[in-house]
Amino acid sequence: MRIVLIGPPGAGKGTQASLMEEKYHIIHLSTGEILRREIQRKTTLGNQAKVFIDKGQLVPDKLLLELMEQRLRKPDCERGYLLDGFPRTIPQAIGLNNILRHLSTRLDLVISLTANEDELVNRLVLRGRNSGRSDDTPDVIRDRQKVYWEQTAPLLEFYREQGILHEVDGIGTINDVFSRIVEVMDALC
Ligand code: AMP
Repeated sequence: MRIVLIGPPGAGKGTQASLMEEKYHIIHLSTGEILRREIQRKTTLGNQAKVFIDKGQLVPDKLLLELMEQRLRKPDCERGYLLDGFPRTIPQAIGLNNILRHLSTRLDLVISLTANEDELVNRLVLRGRNSGRSDDTPDVIRDRQKVYWEQTAPLLEFYREQGILHEVDGIGTINDVFSRIVEVMDALC
């Protein structure tokens, strides 16, 4: 299956994606993780991305689309994948649909993890104490939330219109939320 996981920063995308990877043996591709790795390696892409990530802004669509086009063409993606953190803008979603059309495939499912903003900021401030991530500071967290509502939330309508959006309540324990995701997955498999 080809699945996209969407949710505001702190909704638990990464955690749930890892559980899905384990249960369904599906490749988990997190663009945030890929970019952080590029930054550590000090590659050209990493250096370009760092400027945006540290400010809580999105890395330009062009860079993300080039990165993901290459990644999705690799043989290990032939049997499906779970995209975590991509697409994040309408141009990325349109670009992804074009890439998939060239590969004669399409998305099967988009899961939107929902949560209210106060809960999310609290979770991220806590995570920031342990994660060491340069973008988990209170000011940058607030900027990332704003970016989500302005640039990523419009994707929900985009995918609702395509009939593949499923909303899952992201509030509760990790296991509660995962059970809700499993229900959605099992209904489709
Ligand atoms: P994440 O780990 O998904 O929260 O991503 C961390 C940061 O990486 C984001 O705040 C963005 O700066 C950048 N990033 C990750 N995925 C994307 C994307 N699809 N488009 C643009 N920027 C991205």
